[in-house]
Amino acid sequence: MTDKSIVEQKLRDLGDSTPERVAARFAEVRTRFDEDANRQSANLEAWRSFVVQWTGRKSGMLTHITDNWLKPASPELKRVVGQELNQLKAHVESVLAERQTAIEAAAEQSARTRDQIDFSLPGIEHAIGTRHLIRQTYDDLLRIFGAIGFSVVEGPEIETPYYNFEALNIPEHHPARDNMDTFYIEGSRTGHVLRTHTSPMQIRTMEKQAPPVRIVVPGKVYRRDNPDATHGYMFHQIEGLAVDTDITFCDFKGTVDYFAREFLGPKTKTRLRPSYFPFTEPSAEVDATCHVCGGKGCRVCKQSGWIELFGAGMVNPAVYGFVKYDAERLSGFAFGMGVDRLAMMKYGVAEVPLLFQNDVRFLRQF
Ligand SMILES: [Zn+2]
Repeated sequence: MTDKSIVEQKLRDLGDSTPERVAARFAEVRTRFDEDANRQSANLEAWRSFVVQWTGRKSGMLTHITDNWLKPASPELKRVVGQELNQLKAHVESVLAERQTAIEAAAEQSARTRDQIDFSLPGIEHAIGTRHLIRQTYDDLLRIFGAIGFSVVEGPEIETPYYNFEALNIPEHHPARDNMDTFYIEGSRTGHVLRTHTSPMQIRTMEKQAPPVRIVVPGKVYRRDNPDATHGYMFHQIEGLAVDTDITFCDFKGTVDYFAREFLGPKTKTRLRPSYFPFTEPSAEVDATCHVCGGKGCRVCKQSGWIELFGAGMVNPAVYGFVKYDAERLSGFAFGMGVDRLAMMKYGVAEVPLLFQNDVRFLRQF
């Protein structure tokens, strides 16, 4: 900061009453300016305030000299003060202009250095995500069924009881509703539910589409289970439906065999066990030879050589009645797979919660 105390006084008060004293006083000011100018570094901010201190119109050094030294000067000194002031002004302006360019260049250079990338620093590693095990299994299933002409349809997770139960041949008070106990949407006058299976889309598709139908329906479904190692209140399902004029139990068995070989390996064999579902007749549980031991018996298949895959069967003719299909002319089969179960079985995952805890140490393995 340039000291302004002398330029705030009049020359008379400083005792400068001769041309020599005046010249000496100006020389002193000029020296001070040169010293201050030399002290300025490449700091652009400080340089700008230094320029204002000297040339600022309101209270710069030059303005003070004009006001305090030149204007009140005695007639005999006025000429010499004027000359000295002009020389000082010219000097200040030329030095400022010259230094300005250098300082701006230096400031720019230092900013450039600051922004420069140091290639020797360690980089930031971005983890590459993987597809979730459930997604991978879905992709697998869709590929397998897509290859034999099944198309994919998706539907709402909130369903009416009609589509979730009645149209699938599960009337009210039917015992099958017990193990499909679900969540009811509060405040819904029509008693909407979170769907317990993706089967409602079979009905919705057949309502809209004339046969033949070949669809698979992937999606989330809900049951009011208490979460434990093998149950969650939500799981993933894929439902399949094929309806045409000439579909037989043979087609059903052939499709099941094809799926088991594609999903678990070419040596896989299947067997059907009688079962019951309201919307299929006859119904079956599909088992496959264990993919780990090949049927000899191991820990995974609990020494039986077989693992349970999914439930399936021929479409119950009663279902066709709900969608105005000709039950005399048409036949078909349907299946419903638990995707989480299939994934856990295939990849040896012991507990359901592992799938959804989003622990990267777990997810990274697949
Ligand atoms: Zn086994």
